[in-house]
Amino acid sequence: MKIYLLNPPFVENFVRCGRWQGVAARGGTLYYPIWLAYAAGVLEKQGHTIRLVDAPAWKWGREEVKEDARKFNPALIIADSNFSSLRNDGDVAKLLKDVTGAVSVLVGPPVSQFSERVLANDGVDIAARLEYDFTVLDIAEAVEGGASFGDISGISYKENGRITHNPDREFITSEELDRIPFVSRVYKEHLNIQDYFLGHTLYPMVQIFTGRGCPNQCTFCAWPETLMGRKHRVRSVENVVDELEYITKELPEVKEIFIEDDTFTIDRQRIREVCSEIGQRGLDIAWSCNARANLDYETMRVMKEAGCRLLDVGYESGSDVILRNIKKGITTSDSRRFTKDAKRARLMILADLIFGMPGETKETAEQTIRFVKEIKPNIVQFSVATPIPGTEFYDYVKENGFLLVDDLEESLDEDGFQKCIVSYPEFTERDVENYVDRALREYYLSPSYIPVVIKNVMRKNGVHELMGVVKSAKVFLKYLGRGTG
Ligand code: SF4
Repeated sequence: MKIYLLNPPFVENFVRCGRWQGVAARGGTLYYPIWLAYAAGVLEKQGHTIRLVDAPAWKWGREEVKEDARKFNPALIIADSNFSSLRNDGDVAKLLKDVTGAVSVLVGPPVSQFSERVLANDGVDIAARLEYDFTVLDIAEAVEGGASFGDISGISYKENGRITHNPDREFITSEELDRIPFVSRVYKEHLNIQDYFLGHTLYPMVQIFTGRGCPNQCTFCAWPETLMGRKHRVRSVENVVDELEYITKELPEVKEIFIEDDTFTIDRQRIREVCSEIGQRGLDIAWSCNARANLDYETMRVMKEAGCRLLDVGYESGSDVILRNIKKGITTSDSRRFTKDAKRARLMILADLIFGMPGETKETAEQTIRFVKEIKPNIVQFSVATPIPGTEFYDYVKENGFLLVDDLEESLDEDGFQKCIVSYPEFTERDVENYVDRALREYYLSPSYIPVVIKNVMRKNGVHELMGVVKSAKVFLKYLGRGTG
């Protein structure tokens, strides 16, 4: 059966698949449509003919997508969604349904929270909640066989104008993860890897997952609540390293693999096994991953030896009060110790920090700025705290009257950059935005950043590091210049 999988058009450079809400990324970042690509692999393996369209990457608007879908003539449409673009995504699904007559499914984080709202759009037939790789396979089989949707777990659907919510689906097991085709193969066959860019990785890169789900309790984090759950599930070491080997052979132009798992560093024994297998197979590949700021030196040393280049670390704040409030489970002294060890292991660090979490004051925000200057990461990202429906943070600001607008579609400015929608008596939305701007300026425009850039560029792959800095800088300067004409 023909199935059309779509990352819908919206604003330019829209990152629909990031961990926070969707935004036009400041550093020129563009993510792969990762989850759609995993589902595409599952459907294709089962013999379906798929077309995977990434409208933001291809700079396609509604007309191009409509024309393309009309020509392909699918029986099933699967469209991704994001909290910041939800109305748009439902409308695009409707457009395609109108032109093709196909059954239409909306997937993505907001669908698990707002299935009724999603289905209120008469262009959406089914809302596939949470992790959906095998859900869409069941839907495809039902559509093909003319069966009812009543037995498919994990969906809400409309029939004769009535909405039915089927029970949740069990999260995919570790063994099942091994049976999902390599997402890098889907990228190779259906997308153009040159389109995707992360400011902190070498270019071109691919993003993969080796495991899913996070048992930690950070109050602001959306994926465990809206997509992947709290249970940690992992692919086998052999399956992971098979994919790394596949990439080195079949995508030789790829300069770096980014391991997107929330929790790659949670199981040190497994990391060491992956690293040892990379060494035994003699794979020469740069890779990076997300990490928590409690990893030990020895593990990081082993990772470096196996090609690890950079750790993307959610430090979140330089204040222990804030870290406690957001249930990060890490203190600033953990973070300091970790940073020293990471540098000793010669790993680069991308530090992620947030302004505007509950309890933030000018004093805690200043602590964060001082903390970042002290630890001197190679790259730093400051975000506006964004309450995503489904998270504890969202419930807190909503219940306490700190939420300015209860709609993430209002949280983007006209260029798709992130605005602040929380405001506290002690720390207003203007304070949050001013601190993000000030922290970015002070870090990147200060003379003390120059030695950091030079160090970055002097490393192995320095030319590629420099290209990344230049591309990010262009978008960053556009961001800083906004509103000044
Ligand atoms: S560690 Fe915290 S921020 Fe990271 S994925 Fe888990 S819950 Fe989210």
